[in-house]
Amino acid sequence: MSYKTSINMKLVKDLDKTQSKKAEVTDKQAEEAFRTILTWIGENPDREGLAETPRRVVKAFKEYFRGYSQDASKDLLKTFGDVEGYDDMVVEKNISLESHCEHHMAPIIGVAHVAYIPNKKVVGLSKLARTVDIFSKRLQTQERLTMQIASTLMSSLDAKGVAVTIEAAHQCMTMRGIKKEKAMTVTNYFLGSFKEDLSFQNRYLRYIAR
Ligand SMILES: [Zn+2]
Repeated sequence: MSYKTSINMKLVKDLDKTQSKKAEVTDKQAEEAFRTILTWIGENPDREGLAETPRRVVKAFKEYFRGYSQDASKDLLKTFGDVEGYDDMVVEKNISLESHCEHHMAPIIGVAHVAYIPNKKVVGLSKLARTVDIFSKRLQTQERLTMQIASTLMSSLDAKGVAVTIEAAHQCMTMRGIKKEKAMTVTNYFLGSFKEDLSFQNRYLRYIAR
């Protein structure tokens, strides 16, 4: 294992540590908490239109945050060795992304672009999008999300290089607070050949700009 790869694995591990604490809270307790919030905003949680709302919100939250129970590196274990010598970058762009910011639990909506340079093995294209999904369905900062996707792909695929770009609107910026409804945040993370060789990085940036 190269020095770089081990650094990346450590990074992923450390980041995972912050997310591994899972308290035992039942669905019923979570529904009760949403009932409390409904009362707190000035609503009557017992009126007809809201009676089922806490249950529906709990169901929706399970979907928004299902990434906590998923392990991206396990998903990427299935690789294909037969690539007939393909050694250039694989770019998967415009992967739709929905996440939530960890500061306001507000939606982050955007796209991710992912590229890797295979090292003897490739992975099914859907797995790249799935890696984006698994880390998106957690409370995130865009910076960490970008790094987690890149580092996981790099170490799981033992790739020669990985590039990840996320362009997203943060509803905590657009709907509240400073209210800049057109603000987009762009983050990049380059590893391996994409970091060391600017010709790779430039080609990648040209592909995703099209
Ligand atoms: Zn926020």
